Amino acid sequence: MAIRQLSETIINQIAAGEVIERPASVVKELVENALDAGARRVEIATVGGGLNLIRVSDDGAGIPENELQLAIARHCTSKLSEDINDIRSLGFRGEALPSIGSVSRLTIRSRTADSDSGFEILVDGGRTGATRPAAANRGTLVEVRDLFFATPARLKFMKGERAETTAINEVVKRIAIAFPHVRFTLSGPDRATLDLNAVPDQIERIAQVFGKEFPENALELDAEREGVHLSGFVSIPSFSRANALQQFAYINGRPVRDKLIAGAIRGAYADTLARDRNAVAALFFTLDPADVDVNVHPAKADVRFREPGLVRGLIIGAIRQALAGAGIRPASGAGM
Ligand code: ADP
Ligand code: MG
Repeated sequence: MAIRQLSETIINQIAAGEVIERPASVVKELVENALDAGARRVEIATVGGGLNLIRVSDDGAGIPENELQLAIARHCTSKLSEDINDIRSLGFRGEALPSIGSVSRLTIRSRTADSDSGFEILVDGGRTGATRPAAANRGTLVEVRDLFFATPARLKFMKGERAETTAINEVVKRIAIAFPHVRFTLSGPDRATLDLNAVPDQIERIAQVFGKEFPENALELDAEREGVHLSGFVSIPSFSRANALQQFAYINGRPVRDKLIAGAIRGAYADTLARDRNAVAALFFTLDPADVDVNVHPAKADVRFREPGLVRGLIIGAIRQALAGAGIRPASGAGM
């Protein structure tokens, strides 16, 4: 076969294979977009674990009529200009919407503050329709129906409605912790599953997510090393969990997962917590965007610190200091 250029739809479906692993990935991308648009309210509704329908609406800046086509075009973004070393938004790849549109039936309806009418655009398995007028509130509403209908092999890998609903819940909680002054609601066909009112500070949002008992069992962190600032909360050893699902880390507001962070938390508690127990933690790192690489994987959750040793030391030092400050001594037998 001769070499030829792949069609736009196939290119987007290939990208979707990495960006959109499951319904929760769609929710993550759409919520990130709402937050990047400055939303104060993000409403999420799903049907069938997100496989039948995901709807995310926000009261953010909206997309002007003449940019709707660009929003669903590959590598088109309003967030990154010339410098890959200076990423300050959650999105930057210009990949999520075209990827989602290539594997589902996608509708985007939006109205900006300075326009008195809204507009919408539809993409059906990669085929884009014309931009047309539609009644819309200020902000953006994105609907994703029949996710993966265009890629049946991926659809077959879905774990079922319960598991996908749980994953969506986790994604929303994770991101909501970093944005306490935004109201998040998540609802299913018959019930609300999450309703996180806007609150003035992080600890109150964490209490909404981790439970009201968390603040009285938590130690506050506040430390800095060579331009890397760490704040947040960790649980006292008696408030531990059987797994590490309640450890959340954020870099400049972006939820991330990193073995280094998880390992450092474990190291910090080595003397005070039994090996099979895990602390509850929410760690927020603020640093120069040039000192961390978020461009590691299309899903944007994997990161590489420029100075991993420094970050590890910062985490262990901050947690140990907090434990010592609260008079928590090594328990006999723990950490052996
Ligand atoms: P990225 O977020 O990496 O820029 P996306 O494909 O997710 O790429 O979105 C493309 C563009 O569409 C964004 O850069 C933004 O300009 C616009 N957009 C998407 N969602 C929203 C939203 N909820 N509100 C306002 N603008 C949006
Ligand atoms: Mg995006």
